[in-house]
Order: sequence, then C-alpha cells, then structure tokens
Amino acid sequence: MTQKVDVLFINALVLTMDGKLNQYDPGAVAVSGDLIVAVGSEAAIKTEFDASEIIDCGGKVLMPGLVNAHTHVPMTLLRGLADDLRLDVWLMGYMLPVEREFVSPDFVRLGTMLACAEQIRTGVTTFNDMYYFEEDVAKATAKAGLRAVCGQTVMKFPAPDAAAFEDSLAMAREFIQGWKDHPLIVPAVAPHAPYSCTPEILRAVTDLAREFDVPLHIHIAETAFEVETMRNENGMPVVPYVKKQGILEAKVIAAHCVHIDTGEMRTLLHAGAGVAHNPSSNLKLASGFAPVQKMLEAGLNVGIGTDGPASNNDLDMFEEVRLASFVAKASSNDPTVVPAVTALLMGTRMGAKALHLGHLTGSIETGKRADLIIVDTSPAHNSPRFRRDPNNAYAQLVYASKSTDVSDVMVNGKWLMRDHKLLTLNEEELVAQARELAKKIDVFLIEREQSVLSKLIALGGSMEQESFEVQVKVKIVEPDLVVRTLTRPEIGITAFKHYRQYDDYFSFDDPAQGRLRFREDNLVNEKGETVNVRARLTLLGQKREGQIGQDVLLSRSRFLAPAAHTLRFYREYFKPKEEVSITKDRRRWHIRYKETEFFVNLDRMEHPDMGHFLEIKSRTWSRKDAERKAHMVVELMALLGAANSETMTQDYIEAIQN
Ligand SMILES: [Zn+2]
Repeated sequence: MTQKVDVLFINALVLTMDGKLNQYDPGAVAVSGDLIVAVGSEAAIKTEFDASEIIDCGGKVLMPGLVNAHTHVPMTLLRGLADDLRLDVWLMGYMLPVEREFVSPDFVRLGTMLACAEQIRTGVTTFNDMYYFEEDVAKATAKAGLRAVCGQTVMKFPAPDAAAFEDSLAMAREFIQGWKDHPLIVPAVAPHAPYSCTPEILRAVTDLAREFDVPLHIHIAETAFEVETMRNENGMPVVPYVKKQGILEAKVIAAHCVHIDTGEMRTLLHAGAGVAHNPSSNLKLASGFAPVQKMLEAGLNVGIGTDGPASNNDLDMFEEVRLASFVAKASSNDPTVVPAVTALLMGTRMGAKALHLGHLTGSIETGKRADLIIVDTSPAHNSPRFRRDPNNAYAQLVYASKSTDVSDVMVNGKWLMRDHKLLTLNEEELVAQARELAKKIDVFLIEREQSVLSKLIALGGSMEQESFEVQVKVKIVEPDLVVRTLTRPEIGITAFKHYRQYDDYFSFDDPAQGRLRFREDNLVNEKGETVNVRARLTLLGQKREGQIGQDVLLSRSRFLAPAAHTLRFYREYFKPKEEVSITKDRRRWHIRYKETEFFVNLDRMEHPDMGHFLEIKSRTWSRKDAERKAHMVVELMALLGAANSETMTQDYIEAIQN
C-alpha cells in the first residue's frame, strides 16, 4: 500500500546537502504540501509513495535551492548606475542621493520583483534582504513565492522611508508584528552598520529583535577603513564594539566580516551569529579578502551572499559560490581550502543556518520545507560526468555549472519555474518598467553633474550659506610690525587664534563653476600643540562681484560646512581638473574698528614658500555696506603700515597657478 503525496521527483541525482552529505543516484524525493516527506533511492521511495504529479528529472541534479545570505534586492533598479568607485564615493556620492530622490514603495516593489525573477533563474530559493520600505519588499517577495528574511533598515541618517531613526524603528516594529508568522517571510530588523548607527539605535534594535525573536541583520567590518576608524574612536575593533552595545544578544546575521580576527570570530561564534560572505562585492569594491577558511575552522556558519546588485552587479549565486571557493584558495595560497562541497554547503545548508533558518530550509531532509531546484549538468560546458568520487558531483556544480542550467525551481512546495519558464512573474514587463525608471534616474544625474554646487548639495548634510566678502590681501615683509601696530588704541582686539591650515583647492574645466576648497584647520595653543582639528568645505564663487576702490575685492562665496568626508573622497567624487595644496601658519585677530568688525589674518605661507601675507576681511550682505567697509579696509591697511605693499587682488591660489 503506497502513501499518496503531491509531487514525486524521480530519476534524479539527488544531492541532499544533509549532515551526512547523502547522495542518491537515481534518487527520489516526495513532497506533500509545503514539506519534504521523504528522500532516498528511487527504488525505495517508489515502493512507498505515489503522487498525482510525478516529475521525471531525466538524470539531472535535484538539490536544495541556493540561499543568498546578504543582499539589497530593490537595488536591481540601480544596477550599473555608478561603477569603479570606492565604497564611500559610490555610497555617499551616488547611491544615497539617488535613493533619497527615487526610492518609494513602488520603486521597492518593482526592484524586488525584478530581483526575484533573476534569483529564481539562478536557483535561489531563500534570500536575506536589507533595505527601505521593507514591508513592500516582503509583499513583492511573498507574491513571487520566494522565501526571505526581510530586514527593515534603521540608521542615524535620514532614510528614504524615515526622517529619523525613531520612525524606521516604529516601521520595523509594525512590520515584524504583522509578518511574524508568515509562511515565507521572516521579518527582521536591520541596523545598517555600527558606523551608521548610534549606540542608542543599536540598543533599541537589539531590544526589538529580542522581543519578537527575529534576526538582526547588520554590515560588520566590511572595510579596513571602518575598523581603523572604530579603533581610533572607540579603542576597539568592530565586533567587541557591537558586543558592548548589546547587539550580540540578538540572532545576528553579520554581513561581510572581511576584517575580523580570530578573537572576534570566537565572539561571534559564542553569540550564535551567522556570517554572510560576499565575494563579488568584496572583490569589486576592493574591500579585502574575508578570512573564510579561518571562520569555518572556528566553527562559524558562513553563508554566501551577492550583496546588492548595484555592487556586484548581479544576483547570480552560482557565480558567487564559485568565487567563494576561488577567493579563499587564492587569498590563502592554498588550493585545498574551501573545496567544492564546502562552497556548496555554504550556499545551501550552512547559509540557511547563518540566517537562523536551518530548521526550515537549506537541505533535502524529511520535515524541511520543499525548497528545491533542478540543475542540468549535461550541457557541453559541463560534460562529461564522473562518478568515481562523490565530490565529482559538487565540483561539477560549483566549478562548471551556470545559473542558466537551472531548469526548475520549487519553493515551499510551489512551482516558481518549470522548464526555464517563470510562473509567478512577468519578466518582460518588469524589464520594460525598469528601463523607463532608469531614463528618469539618468536625467536626474545628468542635471546634477552639471554643477559643482549641485553635486555638493546632493551629498546632503551641507548647509548653503551665501555671503559677500570684502577682502584685501597684501604681501608684506615685516609681520612683526603688523603685530605691534594691532595694539593701537583705535583697534580693539576681541579674539585671537593661531592655526595651521592645510588647504586644497580644486578647480574645474569650466571656471564659472568656482573653486572648491577643502580646509583642515588645526587650532594651535601657546605651546605650539594642536588642540583642535576641523575640516570645512567651501565653494568659492569664481565670479567676482567687482572691485571697490582700487584694491579691495568684493567676492561671493558659498560656505558648505563642515566637511563630513575625507579629502580623498571629495577628490574622487568631484574629479577636479587641477588641485593645488597650500600649507600656512595663520594668526587671526578678530577686531573692532569704528564699530565695525573685521578679521585680520597674518599668514606665513610655508608650502609653497611665498613669504608673509596680510589679509583684512569682512563679511557683508549688501553692496552698499560693502562700499562702506571697503573704505575702512583701506584705512586699516594704512594704519597697519601696509598701505604701500604689493596688493594681491588675486589670491594665493591664482598667484600659484599663474
Ligand atoms: Zn550590503
């Protein structure tokens, strides 16, 4: 008497990826509802089970679906938008500004559906996501029929779906409550990274994850820069820091872990955290080589992820599994590490464990969900087939199979692809819609790239503050005379400061764009020690408002302060035509003269060595006031004994360039 099931797979090379790595050839799998009921040799299963739907696999491989352990699926819509950039320039300069402008629930749904189509084709049955409007990611994913951990992003910066972190936290709570028992979706909270969250946020997301017993998805130690900054600011590497913030009390999924040491691995292991290794993304962004073999030896569950399709640029898990093996070998100088079977385990059962879904999916075992794929290993690029060693089958899949060899995909007992045909998504329609959106994003970026100012504003966080400056600058030979004269009774000194200033001026092809100045101000005390450092970015209007009197210059500047990124960041983002660096020692007096405030700067130009300069400046908001001040500046110059000095109507930078 045979037991009736819904689907019976027969005539397959079954790779179970279970604890014993059982293979059956020819093997069979029985599926009833959403569950795997039995797996074994075809002969044994056939005598026990019968089904209304019998799938003859024709000798193809039947295996668990692949688990994409870290991604940002809606970013399919930003694929190929900006490439060959460093992580910070790519993220802060392109992704975040475009996301602020375009990301909406509609954007997220379209991007997710496109990603689901791509992932089904590559044999992915489960993925782990982190993005904005994550409930819409969940809706689109559930409709497409894929399994996913969906993490609502929380961070300290304003996000496309939340002005403040409290809003995204509230969204995460509501999302988790609503989706907690969904058959396909595991809701989660996703603090973006330690550097983009405050300790308060990290504590709050941990409490939320623990309250509902859901995963917490976070980027950890992706770049060496991140670790270095963490060490400088908090005196410890990234994993001890997040542990201190309590994060490891939750079910953590740590993406990347490129720069962690063995002590940090042990900490993650003891916390039961899973790791998502992203070889393509790490290679493309030159983030480094994750210590995969060491993490595996430590006993960590290391899954494999594609990362977002804007930094990969695809969601091809066959490629990713292969790279996980190759990169581990190349970076450790040892071809025996991460063999094919290990890489495939990372892409299936171990990946599911890393996502805290090991009880549900990742292998073909009785009682697990029916998340299965059929892969044709007979094409020319994968022939012939050897049977001598059971590892031959894994090597075929990892080293020679292509995602296009996946012919059939079932998730939770439901067909999503049959014989290369997608059943839950209209691929052509999705591609057409994505193309339309790309045109709009192109227009937005083309407009932005036309001006240095708009590129600057696109970075966000900058304050535009326009003012006019009345300014005269002269070259002097007797700086001490100026210092002595400043004590005259007509001049009231209200403040004095001593700086070392490092200025970098960017100039552009079109002079009308103005010049961008990156200034690092080092405040120096009486002993000559640096007591404070601040960096500011200023866009100096190239357009002169005119000269007042003979020598005084009226110029317009837009201040955008402070500089939130490094000089290297701005250099790569703005791509100046020319860059000039200046180092100077500046003594700065804030004075009152005839009820009017001025700044007196006494500079010693050290690099390039150009001697001493005296500069008198005042800020103003009207032309009439500028004329009044211009007269006073001339008077002051005479008072300071510099009336006959050579006037530099052009400033240092022009003097250097000329
Ligand atoms: Zn990521």
